[in-house]
Amino acid sequence: MTCTLKPFHLIHELGGTYVLNVQDLRINVVDDQTLGTLERVLTTPDQGLESSEQRDLDRLGLIAPQEDSRSELSQEKNVDLIPVTSMSLLLTEACNLKCVYCYCGSGNRKAEGRMTEATAYRALDWLLENSLASREIYVNFCGGEPFLAFPTMRKSVKYVRRKCLESGKKVRFHTTSNGTLLDEEKIDFIAEHAMAMRISIDGPREVHDGHRRFSGGGGSYDTIIENCRKLLEINPDVEAHAVLVEGSPLAIKEALLAIGFKQVSVRVRSDSLLGGRSGGRIPPTREIGRILEDLEREAYLWLRHTGERNSQALKELKPKSQLVNAMISLLQNSKRHHGCVAGFGFFAVSCDGSVYPCHRFVDAPEYRLGSIFGGKLERRTYLRPVELVEACAECFARYYCGGGCKYDNAASGGDIFSPAADICQLRRRELEFAASVVGNLGDEELKYLIELDILPVNPLFLTIGLWDGIKSALDLLGGRGHMHQAKI
Ligand code: SF4
Ligand code: SF4
Repeated sequence: MTCTLKPFHLIHELGGTYVLNVQDLRINVVDDQTLGTLERVLTTPDQGLESSEQRDLDRLGLIAPQEDSRSELSQEKNVDLIPVTSMSLLLTEACNLKCVYCYCGSGNRKAEGRMTEATAYRALDWLLENSLASREIYVNFCGGEPFLAFPTMRKSVKYVRRKCLESGKKVRFHTTSNGTLLDEEKIDFIAEHAMAMRISIDGPREVHDGHRRFSGGGGSYDTIIENCRKLLEINPDVEAHAVLVEGSPLAIKEALLAIGFKQVSVRVRSDSLLGGRSGGRIPPTREIGRILEDLEREAYLWLRHTGERNSQALKELKPKSQLVNAMISLLQNSKRHHGCVAGFGFFAVSCDGSVYPCHRFVDAPEYRLGSIFGGKLERRTYLRPVELVEACAECFARYYCGGGCKYDNAASGGDIFSPAADICQLRRRELEFAASVVGNLGDEELKYLIELDILPVNPLFLTIGLWDGIKSALDLLGGRGHMHQAKI
C-alpha cells in the first residue's frame, strides 16, 4: 500500500515542542528523536522514510494510507439541496449612532430605508420555503438599529410564529442592537420571545464613547449601561460585543465582564466595503501587536492557573479567553471547512428585499445575490471549502480558521477568498498558543479542567492518543459536562 505523510506544522512555544497534524487538527508533544525525523522530512522531503521513522510518525497519526485528496468536501455538491436556516432581516438602515468604524460607511448607508411589513413577511416566507426539511429556523433582526423599527419587528415575530405553527417548524429569534432604545416595553418583548441578544458596546466609557456616539453628538455609554442593567436582570445571557480598534482585547473583555455581562466577544475592526469615513478618528491601519501579546500572556495564564489548581482564576479566565475555542477544537479534533455559512446557509435581506451573503455586505452591489421576490440565488461561489481556497490551501491553520470572515476578506483583500495578512497571523498564533497549552496538559490537568467545566467532556478526547489516562477520568466523571457546539 502506498503511504503518504500528512501535512504537519512544528510549534516551539511555552518551553516545549509540538507537532500539529494539520489534516486531523490534532496536537502531540514531540521528543528530540521525533523532532529530528520531522526536521529531516522538512529538509529532504523526497528521501523516503525508514521503517523506524515511519513507525514513529504513524504513532502521531501522520501517516495516511494513501494519497490524501485535498478536497474532502466538494463544491460540486448540489447547492440547491442545502437548506437556508438563518436569515438577518435589515428592518431599517437608519441608526441613531454614528460609530467611527461603521461598516455601513460611518453611519451613512447609501439608502436610508425601512423595510415594509410586506417585504418582511415575504422574506420570512422565503426563509421558510428555503429551509426545506429543516425543523428549525433562526431569524436575526438587525439594521441600522433594529429597535428604530420596533413595530415591524413585533409584527414580523407574530407573523413568522403563526407560519411556523402551520408548518410545524420552530423559530428562534436573535437581535443585534446598540442598546440605546431599550425601554420596558421592548425588554418585555425580548423576554416574551426568548430573543437572544447581542449588544454592541466597546468596553469602558472612555473607549466606548470615543467610538460610539449619538448622531447628534455625545457618547452613548451611560444610556446603554442603564438599559443593560434592566436587560441583564431578565436575561443574564445577553452578549456584549465589542469592536476592537486598538489596544488589548483582554482588557476590553474584563471591562465588559465587570459591567455584568457573562458572555463577551471582541472582533477586530474591518475596513468598510462602502467607503467608511472615520474623519481621522481611527488609525488608518489595523494594529494587532497588543492582541498577539495578549495571546502569549493568556497561554502562560492557562498553564500557571492549572498548575496551581487555581479554580477561581481559571473560571475568570475562560469567559475572556481568546484561546479556549481553539483548545477545544484541538481536543475534539473538530475541523472547520468554512469560516461561516454566509452565502449558502445564511443570508441577509435588505430593506428592499435584496439578498446578500450577510448583513455586513448589504448595499455593496457586487455582493448582491438576488432577491426574495424571485429568481435564483447564485450561492455556489460561497460554498467553496477552505481546502479549495488558493490562499488557504497550504495554511497550517486552515481547519481551525476555515478561511476567515468573508466580509473582512472582501473589505481588506478585495475578494471573499483573499484574507488579510494580519488576521491570518492572528488566527495562526491563536492556534499555535492553544496547541502549546493543550500539548502541555497532562492527564491530571485535563481531568481537573473537565471537572471545573472549563473544558467539555467529549468522547473524541479518547482518540487523540495524548493522554492514556483520560478514559478513566471520563468514567469517573460519568459524562458530565457539555459538548462544544459543532463547528462548520
Ligand atoms: S489563517 Fe488565513 S490563510 Fe489560513 S485558513 Fe485562515 S484565512 Fe486562510
Ligand atoms: S461573512 Fe463575516 S460577518 Fe458575515 S456572517 Fe460570515 S463571519 Fe459573520
